[in-house]
Amino acid sequence: MGSGYSQELVINLKGVGEKTSKLFEKCGVRTVGDLLSYYPRAYDGFLAPVRACDAISGQVNAVKLTIIGSIVKRRVRNLSIIAFEAADETGRIKMTYFNAPYLASSLKSGTTHIFRGLVQKKGSFLTMDQPKMYSIEEYSSLIGKLLPRYPLVKGLTNNAVMKAMEQAFLGAEASKEYIPSDILDRLGLIGLSEAVRGIHFPANEKMLEDARRRLAYNEFLLFVLRLRLLKKNSEELSNSFPMLETSETRRLLEVLPYKLTSAQLQAWEDILHDISGPSVMNRLIQGDVGSGKTILAFMALLTAAANGYQAALMAPTEVLAAQHFESFKELIDKYDIKTLKPVLLTGALSAKDKREAQRLISLGEVNCIIGTNALIQDKVDYKNLALVVTDEQHRFGVRQREALAGKGFNTHVLAMSATPIPRTLAIILYGDLHISIINELPGGRLPIKNCVVGTDYRPKAYKFIKDQVEAGRQAYVICPMIEEGELDGVCNVTDYTEILRQNLPESIRIEMLHGKMKPREKDEIMEAFARKDIDVLVSTTVIEVGINVPNATVMMIENAERYGLSQLHQLRGRVGRGKHQSYCIFLNTSEGEDAKKRLDIMNKSNDGFKIAEEDLRQRGPGDLFGVRQSGDLNFRVGDIYHDSDLVKESAMDADRILSEDPDLSLPQYRVLKETLATKSANFIDFATL
Ligand code: ADP
Ligand code: MG
Repeated sequence: MGSGYSQELVINLKGVGEKTSKLFEKCGVRTVGDLLSYYPRAYDGFLAPVRACDAISGQVNAVKLTIIGSIVKRRVRNLSIIAFEAADETGRIKMTYFNAPYLASSLKSGTTHIFRGLVQKKGSFLTMDQPKMYSIEEYSSLIGKLLPRYPLVKGLTNNAVMKAMEQAFLGAEASKEYIPSDILDRLGLIGLSEAVRGIHFPANEKMLEDARRRLAYNEFLLFVLRLRLLKKNSEELSNSFPMLETSETRRLLEVLPYKLTSAQLQAWEDILHDISGPSVMNRLIQGDVGSGKTILAFMALLTAAANGYQAALMAPTEVLAAQHFESFKELIDKYDIKTLKPVLLTGALSAKDKREAQRLISLGEVNCIIGTNALIQDKVDYKNLALVVTDEQHRFGVRQREALAGKGFNTHVLAMSATPIPRTLAIILYGDLHISIINELPGGRLPIKNCVVGTDYRPKAYKFIKDQVEAGRQAYVICPMIEEGELDGVCNVTDYTEILRQNLPESIRIEMLHGKMKPREKDEIMEAFARKDIDVLVSTTVIEVGINVPNATVMMIENAERYGLSQLHQLRGRVGRGKHQSYCIFLNTSEGEDAKKRLDIMNKSNDGFKIAEEDLRQRGPGDLFGVRQSGDLNFRVGDIYHDSDLVKESAMDADRILSEDPDLSLPQYRVLKETLATKSANFIDFATL
C-alpha cells in the first residue's frame, strides 16, 4: 500500500467509530496498514446443503430441512429455550436455540429452511445448537463463498472487522510490489495487491491458496534475507567476551542427582569450545522435549558469571521466564552456588520491582537476568552483557540478534529449541547458527502412553483424570480457544473449565490459563500448579513451550486434529518428565480420514524428529489455515512444512539476489530493502495465544 495511506488511522475509515477503534487497538490494529495485515484465522466455506443422512457429527454442515411437529418453548432460570425437530426424507435433526425470542415468529411447522451450524451426536440423535437459518434463495447466493473469520476480542464482531476491511480496500492504492517479476513468474505467484485482497476476501479456494502462497513466500524470502545479512555481519566478529570453564560447573556436574547424557555432554563441550574460541558464539541447541536443555543454559549462564560478565536468559512467555527463575533459585540454594545472582525482569513485575531489578542490573549487582523479549526491547542498562540464551524462542532469534547488534552488543548467543525440524529445512532456517543436537532422552523415563479417541470417550477421559488426580498426579487439558464464539465446534478454555468442574468431584481443583490473562494472574496460576495447589489446568497452547511440572502425568488435547504434529509433540512433552507413567489423550473431534491418519502418527511415535519428518511428508495441499504450526519458526501465513518448497525456493532466491547485489542497492531491490527494514513483525506474537 502507499505508505501514506497505510499510516492512516483506522478511526478515519468510514463506519469505524471511537469504540471500534479502541477494540481494534486491543488487537494491535491502529493503522490501515495494520488492518490490512490483520489476517483471518479461518474461513467459513458455504457448501451446498447436504441431506440429513449425510450430516456429519463434529462438522459444520448446511442441511435443508422442514420443521416438523411442534415448536417447544421453555424457560430455565433466565434462559429461554426454543426446541423443535426438522427433517427431510432421509432423517431428522433436533434443533435448539437459546435466548432467541426473535426467531419465534419465523419458525412454523411445515416451513423449509437451510440450517447451518455444528452437527453433534447426542445419544442416538443428531442435534444442532443455534444453527444459522437461511431461506433457500438467501443460501444459494452464498454457496461457494468463503467468509473470513477474524481473530476477535470481546465486543468486536467479525462483521465489524469485515466492514472496516472493505472500507480499507476502497481507499487502498496498489501495494508496492517488491519481488522481482522473474521470481513471481517462475514460481507462479500472484501479485502483492491481489494477494492481500485474496487473503481477506477470496472468491474461492483457489484464490485463497494463491494468496496464501504468495504471502508465505514474502515471509520466507524476508526471513532468509535477514538471516543472510545477519550472518554476514556476525561471521567476522571476534570474541570480545572470552570465557574459561569454571570449577563451579565441574562441581555442579558432580553433585547433580543425575549424570548428563552423552548428547548433553557433547553440547556442553560445543558451548565451551565456542565461548573460549576466537569468534563470537552463535549456537543452536536442538533437542527433543524433555532432553534436558535447561541445565545446559544454567551452566552457560554460570560460566559467564564466573568469568565476571552478565548474562541473560530470554523465554517466549512470562510464565516460562518465571519458571526458569524459580528453578534456578532452587539449584543455587540446593548446590550452594555463590557466583550466580539471578534476577527476574518481566512485565508481570510491579513498577517498583521493575525499577529495583533495573537498578541491580545497571550496578552489576546481579549477573543473570531472566525475562522475556523485553530484556532487549526495553531500556535495560546492562553491565558487560556477554551472553544471551534464548529458550524455546528461536523464531525470535533473528530479531533479537538484530536488536542486540543494533545496540552494539556483540554477545554470544545460545538458542535452545525443542522443535526438531527436518534437516533439509533446518539448514535453511537455522542457516546462521551452528547446531548441536541432543538426540537422546535422559535414561529411566517411562515412555508416554498415547491414545487417539473420539468425543464419546470424554466421560472416560474425565474418569481417568479423576483417578490420576486421586493418585496424587496432575493433568493438563488443552483447548484451542479462549472464549466461546470464534469458531464452531471448537472447545474453549472458559467453558471447558466449567464443564470439568461439573464433571469432576469438588475436591479436584481446576483452574484455567490463557494468553489474555494478566501476566501476574498467569504467574500465580502457573506457580499454584507447580506447587500442586491446582490439580487440573485447562489451558490454551500458551503452555506448549518449556513448562516443567514433573508431577503432571495426563495431557488431554481437545480438538487435537487442529494442530500440527510438531505442536502436538510439544504439548505432549509437558508430561512424561518425571518418574511416573504419563499419558497423552488426543481427542479427535473430526470424522475425517486425514485427521485420523495424522493423529495415528502421534499414537505410534514419541520421537520428535521422526514426527517432524512425517509432518513434512503428510502435509498435503488443502490444509490452509486448518492446522497451526508449532511454536518455533511460526510464520504468520507460511507453514514450513506445507510450504517447504517455497522455503527452499526462497533460500535460493535470497542467495541469488545477494550475490548479485550484496547490500540491495540496485533500484529493483529498493522496495525490498525498505520492506526488510520495516517489516520486523514476521511472526505471530506468542503471548496473545
Ligand atoms: P527440555 O529439554 O524440554 O527443556 P528440561 O531441561 O526442562 O527439558 O528437563 C526436563 C527434566 O529432566 C528436568 O526435570 C530436568 O531436571 C531433568 N533432566 C535433565 N537432564 C537430565 C539427565 N541427564 N538425567 C535425568 N534427568 C535430567
Ligand atoms: Mg525447556
